[in-house]
Amino acid sequence: MHSAQNDKPDVIIREVALRDGLQSEPGFVATSDKLRLIHALAAAGVVLLETTSFVSPRAIPQLRDARELMDRVPRGWLCHEVMVPNLRGAREAADAGADRLIVFVSASETHNRKNVGCSIEQSMADLGAISGLAAAGNMAVAAAIATAFGCPYEGQVDRSAVLAIARRFVQAGADRITLADTTGMANPKQITQTVAFFKDHLPHTQICLHLHNNRGIAAANLYAGYLAGVRMFDTSLGGIGGCPNVPRAAGNLATEDVANMFEALGVRTGMDIDELIRAAGLLESILGRTLPGQVMKSGASA
Ligand code: ZN
Repeated sequence: MHSAQNDKPDVIIREVALRDGLQSEPGFVATSDKLRLIHALAAAGVVLLETTSFVSPRAIPQLRDARELMDRVPRGWLCHEVMVPNLRGAREAADAGADRLIVFVSASETHNRKNVGCSIEQSMADLGAISGLAAAGNMAVAAAIATAFGCPYEGQVDRSAVLAIARRFVQAGADRITLADTTGMANPKQITQTVAFFKDHLPHTQICLHLHNNRGIAAANLYAGYLAGVRMFDTSLGGIGGCPNVPRAAGNLATEDVANMFEALGVRTGMDIDELIRAAGLLESILGRTLPGQVMKSGASA
C-alpha cells in the first residue's frame, strides 16, 4: 500500500495546450472541444492546467470564450491557472473562479511592446493591485517572464535584468516564477547557469521552465533544468504552441513526450502515457492536422 507521500509525483508537468497552444492556432476551437480535451487530460493524470487567458478578444480571438470555458470546466482535483495581462484581466479571472493568476511580462522591451502593446514598466504597474485582488480572493499568484533566455528582436537578454523583474514579482507575492524561452534561444549550459543563479538569489521561489522548441534543443534544455533542480515544467499536448509575436515560432515540448522521458528515467510524473497519447489523438482530430509530438506516433518507451 502506498502512502500519500509515495504517490506524489517527482516532477510537476503543467499543461499549456489550452492557452499557449490554442492561441497560436489559426482558427477558434469550440468551447465544447476544449472541454473534451480537459476531460481527456484529466483522465491522463494532468492536474495543473493553464486553462485560458483573460486578454482582449480582439487581440486573441482564440481565447474569447475564457469566461464560458471557466464556467464549464470540471473543478475539484484540477487546478485552473489563468493568465492575466493587467488588472482588468485579473478581475475577470477572479470573477470566473481562477485558482491562480499568472501575471506576465517580457524581459525584452521590444517583445513586451509587440506582445501586449506597452512597456515593461506599464506591464508592471498593475502588479500591486493584482496581488491585492488575489489576496482578497484567496488566489495564488505566479509570474511568467517571457524571452528570459533571449529575444528575437533584441538578442541577448541580461540575466540580472530577468532577476530584477522576478524580484519585483516575488515582492508582490508571487511564489513561483516561470522562466520562458519563448523563442527557443536557450541552450542547456545557459539553462544550468540561469537556474543556479535564480536558486542562489531567490532560494524560496519555485522555478518553472517554459521551453519552446524552435531549434530542436528544448528537450535537452528541459533535462538540463531537471538536473539543475527544477521540478516544474510547462508542456503542451501534441507539442502545439508558439507565439503570435515571434517570427516562425515553434511549439512547446509535447506533454506526452516529456512525461514518457521522465517515466523512462524513473522520475514519476503521475501521468498515464497511453491516456496522454489518446488525448493527443483527440487534439489531432480536433485540429485536423498532424501534430509535432513524437511519442503519439512512436508509442511509449518500453
Ligand atoms: Zn509559450
